Amino acid sequence: MAIIGIDLGTTNSLACACREGKMVLIPNPLGQFLTPSAVSVEEDGSICVGAVAKERLVSHPEASAASFKRFMGTNHLFNLRGQNFTPQELSSFVLRQLKEDAERFLETEVTEAVISVPAYFNDNQRYATKQAGALAGIHVERLVNEPSAAALAASLVSQKEEGSYLVFDFGGGTLDVSIVDYFENVIEIIAVSGDNHLGGDDFDELIAQNFCKTHHMEYDELSAKERAVLLRLAENCKRELTAQKQAALTYGPEGKTLELNNILLADMSQKIFSRINRVISGALSDSGRTIEEIDEIILVGGSAKMPVISFYLQTCLGKKPCVIGSPDEIVATGAGIYAGIKERKEEIRDLVLTDICPFSLGTDIVNYSDRNNPIMSPVIERNTILPSSRTGFYTNSFDNQTHITVGIYQGESYYCLENIELGQIEMDIFPMPKGKACFELTFTYDINGILKVELTDCYQNIKKEKLLTAGGVRIPEEEVWRRAEELQDYKLIPPGGIRTKLVLARGERLFEQLLGEKRKAVASVMEQLQRALNSQNDQQLVKQMKEAEAVFDKLEELNL
Ligand code: ADP
Ligand code: MG
Repeated sequence: MAIIGIDLGTTNSLACACREGKMVLIPNPLGQFLTPSAVSVEEDGSICVGAVAKERLVSHPEASAASFKRFMGTNHLFNLRGQNFTPQELSSFVLRQLKEDAERFLETEVTEAVISVPAYFNDNQRYATKQAGALAGIHVERLVNEPSAAALAASLVSQKEEGSYLVFDFGGGTLDVSIVDYFENVIEIIAVSGDNHLGGDDFDELIAQNFCKTHHMEYDELSAKERAVLLRLAENCKRELTAQKQAALTYGPEGKTLELNNILLADMSQKIFSRINRVISGALSDSGRTIEEIDEIILVGGSAKMPVISFYLQTCLGKKPCVIGSPDEIVATGAGIYAGIKERKEEIRDLVLTDICPFSLGTDIVNYSDRNNPIMSPVIERNTILPSSRTGFYTNSFDNQTHITVGIYQGESYYCLENIELGQIEMDIFPMPKGKACFELTFTYDINGILKVELTDCYQNIKKEKLLTAGGVRIPEEEVWRRAEELQDYKLIPPGGIRTKLVLARGERLFEQLLGEKRKAVASVMEQLQRALNSQNDQQLVKQMKEAEAVFDKLEELNL
């Protein structure tokens, strides 16, 4: 039996296990470590996850979904081929795929996982992530914050254990900057700041929009499919600029082209850079640190690989960021180390792991100018080190008040209604003139996300207590198990045929994208491939697959 660490990303997910003291990334059936966090329902009702599903996002958008992590902990539903799925259900398919891949690779059952989540994830989002695990048949006791995982992995790889880190995590659609201290085996997140709608996708869109501008086309008037194709080409172009100095985007039947290099890209990206700058300044200012007090800037996430990003960081921070291994594998490696600690692998020293509360927890106080719109009074402020216990003192709001209802909220807004209500605690009180009563309200919040609220009437010495595991409406345990069983009916496509599926899915997508001779070339390759599949002659199939991949690569290399 094994415990694995999982980076369940918005764009890509991957898993890592600890084997003989070493961190081993787990390959998927295609031999890759990164599995796109995309899910698609096939014609026969089976589920595909990863690269095949990513291809189907373009060719079968009505049956496919991605970026569902954005909606974790909300009531948003995704409709795939007429069936509704919650974000945690879609995530559970990704987790099931990673679990099955790990079991095949490690040759043992995987029963438990440590999953990384963004430090700013609130209770609802954390709870939904655990639920995704339960739906996939994986026990998830511990969630770790992504920056803690990154710092832990970085310190282990660079063998430079002590220090203050700035973790710059730039993924597909999110930017998270955290200040993390690692001293004497204690990892502590000092501050987190982020932009939930800034990532690699913005560069794809920027390039696509520039393409349209250059060719006098209206980006907003493109159909959803045209846009998806153009964005995909823009992403390819962006990735090429990481490996080489120049790249081109060619699109449409007339072969319209946009030539790019990193200098041009940097020029176009000024708005993105200033948003990045704002996030970094926020994190530093919340931490009370200056950049000189930071020992190392750690680059995390696929978009942090971009030369324009490391160059920008170096100029704006005056410090060279450090790249440890592959930025998009570092969080999973860290989660794997946590899994190793959980397994009590002797090779891994026990670390004391400290977390912070990434949001404020508070109560409502009367707004005398608008009684229906109470004001938030924070009890535990964001970025407080956990576990934490804080007390606030409150009084009655009118003469001879005999009952109080104390609302418990999570969030940063001034008005309670704009924050998330976690619950209420009520108490009968001794009647007193306004402002004379005294209540003590104590919040105790622990590392597993459990909030204990104690309300004491100081004069009567009566105490009431309430435990809140998390906010919002919770699905009862039995309901989760029932749904987990239902989801078992959805079969993941078997690993054996996945490469064939990917080639077929890619062929379908290319057929949609291309025109004329190139389209015919795709059709003929597909036909031969189908014939080889029907012949059930393995040798023939392998040969045709290789040929198809070569033709598709060529068509894609030519940028269509
Ligand atoms: P997330 O944490 O959001 O799941 P990742 O860390 O895997 O995502 O980052 C995905 C993003 O990284 C995508 O926008 C992708 O285009 C980008 N990316 C991945 N590799 C490269 C590369 N070599 N050059 C530029 N961008 C890249
Ligand atoms: Mg990530």
